[in-house]
Amino acid sequence: KLPIVAIIGRPNVGKSTLVNRLTGSRNAIVHDEAGITRDRLYEPSFWRDRDFLVVDTGGIVFDDDSEFLPEIRQQAMLALSEAVAAIFVVDGQTGPTASDEEIAEWLRQQSVPVFLAVNKCESPEQGLIQAAEFWELGLGEPYPVSGIHGSGTGDLLDAVYPCF
Ligand code: GDP
Ligand code: MG
Repeated sequence: KLPIVAIIGRPNVGKSTLVNRLTGSRNAIVHDEAGITRDRLYEPSFWRDRDFLVVDTGGIVFDDDSEFLPEIRQQAMLALSEAVAAIFVVDGQTGPTASDEEIAEWLRQQSVPVFLAVNKCESPEQGLIQAAEFWELGLGEPYPVSGIHGSGTGDLLDAVYPCF
């Protein structure tokens, strides 16, 4: 049974893009509209000597009562329940939002180790500044990454690796 890494975060932060980057696939649907990935999607990947599965989730939204959102939230919770680690993806260009805070608070109550990926950090210098804003989520070190460019994902996976 392969270890599972759950990708968690509010819609549009780049979860599906990051999943595609981490797995070398193009199966996770990337979309400009929020809330497009509605089901869980497992993709095989490996880092160093370990195989693992990445599960994309539809994004947790706690402050919205559109009809399909409770379902997405349930998917995310289910994904987390079977995961050895979670990557919490946030948007480095918007900075921390109220939804990020809520998700972070929920994640801090879970027993699964959480790694914070600050996505959309294409510029190395600015990425460090953008990432530093997310220390306030109380989830430890924020890792600047770019799902589009692929930068930073090695450091992120090095951090997750002990969980495999
Ligand atoms: P999801 O809803 O969290 O799965 O987000 P998506 O992967 O569908 O991406 C949402 C939007 O963010 C799309 O327009 C992507 O092109 C954009 N995006 C994703 N990753 C990056 C990134 O690393 N840098 C930038 N600048 N944009 C990104
Ligand atoms: Mg998605």
